Amino acid sequence: MPTPEPATFSRQTAELRHTLRTPINHMIGYAELLLEDSQRPQESEPYLTTILGCAQQVLTLVQRHLQSGDSDTASAEIEVLQVQSRSALHEALEAIQVLSRIETGRRIEDVDRIRFAAEELLSFAMGSLPVKVHAPRRPAPEVREPPAKIVAHFLIVDDSEVSREMLCRMLERRGHICVAVESAVEAMERLRSQHFDMVLLDFMMPGVSGMEMLTQIKSEPGLEETAIVMLSAFDEVAEIGRCFELGAEEYLLKPFDRVVLTARLQAILERKRFQNLERKRTQQLEAAERDLRRSNEDLQRFASVVSHDLQEPLRMVSNYIQLLELSLGKEASKEQKDYIHFAIDGAKRMTALIQELLAYSNLASEHELESVDCNEVLYEVKLQLGRAIEESGAVVVHSALPMVMANRPQMRQVFQNLIGNAIKYRSQSPPVVRVTAERANGFWKFSVSDNGIGIDPEYQEKVFGMFVRLHSRSIAGAGIGLAICQRVIEQLGGRIWLESETGKGSTFFFTIPAAD
Ligand code: ADP
Repeated sequence: MPTPEPATFSRQTAELRHTLRTPINHMIGYAELLLEDSQRPQESEPYLTTILGCAQQVLTLVQRHLQSGDSDTASAEIEVLQVQSRSALHEALEAIQVLSRIETGRRIEDVDRIRFAAEELLSFAMGSLPVKVHAPRRPAPEVREPPAKIVAHFLIVDDSEVSREMLCRMLERRGHICVAVESAVEAMERLRSQHFDMVLLDFMMPGVSGMEMLTQIKSEPGLEETAIVMLSAFDEVAEIGRCFELGAEEYLLKPFDRVVLTARLQAILERKRFQNLERKRTQQLEAAERDLRRSNEDLQRFASVVSHDLQEPLRMVSNYIQLLELSLGKEASKEQKDYIHFAIDGAKRMTALIQELLAYSNLASEHELESVDCNEVLYEVKLQLGRAIEESGAVVVHSALPMVMANRPQMRQVFQNLIGNAIKYRSQSPPVVRVTAERANGFWKFSVSDNGIGIDPEYQEKVFGMFVRLHSRSIAGAGIGLAICQRVIEQLGGRIWLESETGKGSTFFFTIPAAD
């Protein structure tokens, strides 16, 4: 027979380590379960402690002697392991013997499980190959430990009945809900029909291996996010690494410390829950962003269509009313004159609203940026507001203003809206409007202040919303001017805000990134 390659030896040694660790795990696991049971008879403690100690000794021997090596050293080491572990196993079996006389009721079934595992290990120590351990049927629910922080649904996939049984009990004691299956096929069926927070997957199973199953779960639509923890007595580093690459959350080695195991599972559940929350939030945010974008587009389309289509009939209404006024001439009664005046005023306000809506909806399209001299823009704005300035006796002054990278008509609109408002919302005294700019932290910070009626602090953020109007209807306006300013400034990468006190005037500030 050809000598196996060193890699084959190392794999065989790893497999033997795995095979032996499973019963050791059962001995430790059930002994710990019994020790922690509040209904345990006092006198069983020393025997359970002995069993735990013996199992630990055998585990240490397995670790020490089942290292990878060539064929000669490997078989010599196995023999040493067999010889050295016998006394510990005999001692454990004696303790088990006493325990089965002390223990009663359902606890005796756990003692039997420990005995099966110890006998299996002893039969290996005496020279035969380990056989599969069978567990007696699972007893009814037992005393619970304090419930876990996150109670979860677990799917346990393990071909060893004893392992399944032990894990279920450990987890159910903490309030978790467990389903245990022995084959990959069953596991996949369960996973497709029911939600599980975590799958505890045995690495070595006959038929479909744990690793193949891990791949299958991770590639199945809808199951990609399932948390999978590999449980194994198989400790080959390369294989463990591969499991992580395939998406396993954790790889826990048997025999596991119960406290460490539950703490780790809890940590994974918490991490997973956090990740799921994150994912859900991101999805919600993305959906909200999509909705917002869509409703913005709808609003823009609506505003542009409505404003275009309304302009023409509105023009007709104003023209015909003016014709009516002319044709009535001096004959018109006081009442008729009032009606005509109201109609013309209404048409004017509607025209202003349509123009503002159009201006707002235009902001959505791309606008070229250029170097804009704000001094020139202010000059143009003062010309445009000439009539309002004259009628109100307003004084508009400004310091030296900078050049900024912006869209010229939009900058004009911003200054026009702010200065126009400063004049519109004036107090008893003639308006004094001051425009300044100073440089700070890579931005130009502009201010437009007035001595007008001011804005209550409660509304200082709200006024930038669409159609928000705080003052009397007798002052013309549609409540879109500040929304336009905010949109323009934010599109340029700046920010707009205000400081004001009722009756003491307002100062609007806005920033624009400095170009140089
Ligand atoms: P509009 O002036 O067309 O009503 P705006 O969006 O420009 O719309 O302004 C929204 C509201 O904010 C105004 O209706 C007014 O109540 C208030 N407001 C704006 N600017 C000033 C200001 N300088 N002083 C006092 N109130 C102002």
